[in-house]
Amino acid sequence: MTEESPALYVVATPLGNLGDMTTRAQDVLKAVPWVAAEDTRHSAPLLRHLGSSARLLPAHQHNEEAAAQQVIEKLAAGDAVALISDAGTPAISDPGARLVARVREAGYKVIPLPGPCAAVAALSASGVTAPHWLFYGFLPTKTKQREEVLRELAPAPYALVFYEAPHRILETVAALSGMLGAARRIVIARELTKLFETIHACPLGEALAWLEADANQQKGEFVLIVDAPEATDDEDVEAGRVLKLLLDEGLPVKQAAKLAHAITGAAKNALYEKALSLRAAQ
Ligand code: SAM
Repeated sequence: MTEESPALYVVATPLGNLGDMTTRAQDVLKAVPWVAAEDTRHSAPLLRHLGSSARLLPAHQHNEEAAAQQVIEKLAAGDAVALISDAGTPAISDPGARLVARVREAGYKVIPLPGPCAAVAALSASGVTAPHWLFYGFLPTKTKQREEVLRELAPAPYALVFYEAPHRILETVAALSGMLGAARRIVIARELTKLFETIHACPLGEALAWLEADANQQKGEFVLIVDAPEATDDEDVEAGRVLKLLLDEGLPVKQAAKLAHAITGAAKNALYEKALSLRAAQ
């Protein structure tokens, strides 16, 4: 191993296509004596395929603290350890973050080996041009909690990235449309890097019907990207809110429009017109 040791190597593994395993990831998984894996039975064939004779340690969400102690013992004994999850990058909607935190607290080096990640793969091929995106991962499964989260996320000026499993895809897409608005665009990225890879973009209001029209499109693993809300819509809403507040305080139309312009930067003429109609409706 050309890498420094002892250290914890956080290694991304393929989402479905073995060709996505980087050369560096292969080298590390062959060189380390220990691999901490989310599911040892799932990862054993990958290690065999690579010709790695590393021994496996279970490191899943129910034993992460104990697994961290085991990893720290290996590092203390001078051994390098690799951390992998079932697919993609460990600690991204996967176990690993707590283990990494403990190893860092114990003073050992943690070295990331970047590679496949479903969110990044989906974004890169989505055509979403929003400069900022927010990775949410899995939404709550309970309706009320999911609605609370989506209500908070709705005005955020970012593209929103969700993970979803096939048995909840219809319910989740319906919730996204209901809470974020039918006009926002969604990109449904399914089975990335696999045989039935599909990337489909449409308005949220059409997404459920598209999925329902073909049961095959409801199978597999999903990344859902909801594009950022139209910036102008948001600004209009804010300017309208400020204008209404000023009119409600009894300010004359002209002065309310002038102040709303100074506060929000929205166009003065449009604010004046809006103020006239709001005053007429008062
Ligand atoms: N750590 C992984 C990563 O780096 O993307 C994510 C693990 S998370 C437990 C599994 C979820 O990731 C799936 O339910 C799905 O939402 C998404 N995912 C994983 N593989 C995928 C693929 N090939 N195509 C689309 N989404 C995928």
